[in-house]
Amino acid sequence: MPSQADAVVIGAGALGLSTAYHLASMGLREVVVLDRFAPGSQASPRAAGLFKQIQTDITRTRLAALSIQKVTNFAAETGVDLPVQRSGSILAARTQKYAEIVRAEAAQARAWGVDLALLDSDEAHRLMPYLEAGTTAAACYTPGDVYIEEPASLLMAYLQAGAKLGVTVLGNTPVTGIRVKNGEVVGALTSEGSIATPIVVDAAGAWARQVGSLADAQVIVAPIRHQLYITDPILGVEPTYPILRSIDTAVYIRPARGGLMFGAFEKDPLPLDPRERGSSFSMDDVPLELAVLERLTESIADQVPALHGATVNEHRGGLFTMTSDGQFIVGPQPGIAGLWSATGCNGSGFSLSPGIGQVLAEWIVTGAASMDLSALAPGRFARVHDEDWLREAAVWQYSHYYERDEPPV
Ligand SMILES: Cc1cc2nc3c(=O)[nH]c(=O)nc-3n(C[C@H](O)[C@H](O)[C@H](O)COP(=O)(O)OP(=O)(O)OC[C@H]3O[C@@H](n4cnc5c(N)ncnc54)[C@H](O)[C@@H]3O)c2cc1C
Repeated sequence: MPSQADAVVIGAGALGLSTAYHLASMGLREVVVLDRFAPGSQASPRAAGLFKQIQTDITRTRLAALSIQKVTNFAAETGVDLPVQRSGSILAARTQKYAEIVRAEAAQARAWGVDLALLDSDEAHRLMPYLEAGTTAAACYTPGDVYIEEPASLLMAYLQAGAKLGVTVLGNTPVTGIRVKNGEVVGALTSEGSIATPIVVDAAGAWARQVGSLADAQVIVAPIRHQLYITDPILGVEPTYPILRSIDTAVYIRPARGGLMFGAFEKDPLPLDPRERGSSFSMDDVPLELAVLERLTESIADQVPALHGATVNEHRGGLFTMTSDGQFIVGPQPGIAGLWSATGCNGSGFSLSPGIGQVLAEWIVTGAASMDLSALAPGRFARVHDEDWLREAAVWQYSHYYERDEPPV
């Protein structure tokens, strides 16, 4: 355990490892990442690995484009290989109501610079034979979207890229305190000792709120369970087939290990707050319910008949770190110089981690970010007095993941 560092990053998930790598690549010499469990073992390796450019606002659209550019050029940037499947993706609607939403999202995304094309039902089926012909009212194809087959490979790649630059990553080392003196961060405390540092980044995922509270900082997140499954191999499924997002059923499907991956956003998801669990609570303890996914699989049976009767080979899940407005929390904590947040993933933290890590590191190292992240400011939330309200707002954001409705006030 080093006794001092230029920066300490709390959390070795996608957001923490990307931020640490970028801090080192921008010249910080001693960057230390601390994790309470094994590095890269919590929400991030459980992700579906999907990257999408059709996003709800221009900041996320730019971060998504930057992130795809970075993962597809990972070896050139870092010298470490990273397999990325350039599959493209299709956003499809079955009904006229959702067809209008698809067209509106496509028009907005195009105005923000995303390369895409509207397809009819037959064209969508030709590109993606596992999507039944005649079931699609409108579809939008984004050829530049990608997926990472095994999400753990991005974490391994960041660990290796960081190691080449001297980043220290210590697992099984929970941070138990953040030392603040005269309004400035001066160190991080762990069970193994303390590290003097002027910079601490809270990238603790579902635990980010309790880590923030170590410095009396507000990190207003509410974790919610999300699950997916992968089938046994299915004859005819090719890894190059596009990702499918079905907007009216709120499900996503992609090729995986010769079969299909299926994930879904239920209307009544399970909130789960690690603060109410013991210190040993990990993503392994998140209760999984295959019945929820089986019910949602039926909702798409006419569109993707290949899933009907397919055998589930792997079922996994973890926690999304949701916020009440559906936006990330990225930037400096007000009133505590040197304390930064990188969390509030709202289900997109894996795919936006390359871009967020880069832009946040620029901001920390140079004092200015190359992209305006003010919409993600940690200080935008009032102190929460009503935990039920926060949970309900997070549930609303989760259950409207693919839609563009206005949330209730
Ligand atoms: C089933 C599933 C599918 C998903 N699919 C996608 C997808 O396709 N695309 C996408 O973009 N996103 C997806 N997500 C969301 C994505 O996984 C998250 O947004 C992302 O992993 C968040 O990264 P993180 O670094 O914040 O969290 P984590 O990976 O959980 O990392 C946080 C780390 O902080 C550590 N920590 C906590 N407290 C402390 C402490 N006190 N001291 C030290 N360390 C601490 C934890 O141990 C943990 O390792 C999915 C999530 C799930 C569950």
